[in-house]
Amino acid sequence: MSEFHEVILCKYGELVLKGANLSYFEALLEKEMRERAKRHGHFHIYHSQSTLYIVPKDEDCDLDGMLDSARRVFGIVGITRAAVADKNLEDILRVAKGYLPPFMDGKKTFRVDAKRADKTFPIASPELAGEVGAALLSANPRLRVDLHNPDCRIRVEVRETAAYIHADQEKGAGGMPIRSNGRGLLLLSGGIDSPVAGYMMAKRGVEIEALHFESFPYTSERAREKVLELATELCEYCTKIHVHVISLTHIQEELRDKCEEDYFTLLLRRFMMTLAERCAKAYKCGALITGESLGQVASQTMEAIGVTDDATGMPVLRPCIGMDKEEIVQIARRIGTFETSIQPYEDCCTVFTPRHPRTRPVLEKVLAQQAKVDFDALVDEAWGGMYTVTCRLKEY
Ligand code: ATP
Ligand code: MG
Repeated sequence: MSEFHEVILCKYGELVLKGANLSYFEALLEKEMRERAKRHGHFHIYHSQSTLYIVPKDEDCDLDGMLDSARRVFGIVGITRAAVADKNLEDILRVAKGYLPPFMDGKKTFRVDAKRADKTFPIASPELAGEVGAALLSANPRLRVDLHNPDCRIRVEVRETAAYIHADQEKGAGGMPIRSNGRGLLLLSGGIDSPVAGYMMAKRGVEIEALHFESFPYTSERAREKVLELATELCEYCTKIHVHVISLTHIQEELRDKCEEDYFTLLLRRFMMTLAERCAKAYKCGALITGESLGQVASQTMEAIGVTDDATGMPVLRPCIGMDKEEIVQIARRIGTFETSIQPYEDCCTVFTPRHPRTRPVLEKVLAQQAKVDFDALVDEAWGGMYTVTCRLKEY
């Protein structure tokens, strides 16, 4: 730890989090942050004036680790480490001169902004900024002040109990706090797209519940492990995810034995949606979430999606629908799921894949094929075998 008392300041978007909901959102943010803080030591976490404070309680706290975790909390728009000074000019200058230089390394120009949340503080903000600026200039004559386009932006914030001094604030994860926008059931495969879809809806404040379909023994235990690993990676953003697992083995065998091959995938997807809806209702989810992207594969044409959606009355959120594969891959890399996703394990969708899947299916024909199996009984049987695994943030 540095010789200065450092804290992390997280700013949340005042504009999004306003009105009657504000205190609810603040409570959600605090809770999310506390969950993450556990693995980095003992922190005091509280909010005041649109800022979430993360204050180490002892020397053993891992501030860098905490900062990294806080970067993944939705609803935070700006984030920075800051040094704490006593609320007097002398101490503010002492801390500014001692604490800021490493953050200004290699920078040529800077500006200082001061803010007095505590109006009883005797020095006005512009004057305080001037004092700090002058102190930094005298300590490092190579620096210049540039008010319009500075390389480095210093902030001094005089708040209720202390003054906080920091250099450039970085962007937070953005979005809305988890659980501020209901709960959704993510159909989670081992592929690249569905974890990204989960991340994107989580970013909009949706609490994620997951459902995975397996087809043991056609799919392996290792394939399931991979999906649980993906869910754990998503926990960096969602904190905790219940993964419900349903076996489609018998359904797939029935489809293989009784239906025309060209319709396998479509029929299977109708089973998936029906089971997903049942799961969503049981776990109080308001929508289903999939990683589908228009035209990516035969089952993702406009017509095929129509046939799939006909099997459920619930809203189906498809945040990747208009994205190219490359764009999805970029997000997968950034959020840390890509490497796991590309591990080559089979998915139930690749079991008994038709050679010529229908890309422009007609609903009546699909329903005629569906009538060849006992749809409801198969759904009940699969539902009866469901089990749940809870994935959590990884310990460090
Ligand atoms: P992904 O990369 O997400 O697997 P994909 O491009 O491979 O997508 P499909 O296999 O057609 O496309 O699956 C489309 C969507 O259906 C997935 O994004 C996912 O939401 C859902 N899905 C597919 N397979 C499964 C599965 N085994 N369990 C749960 N959901 C699945
Ligand atoms: Mg897939």
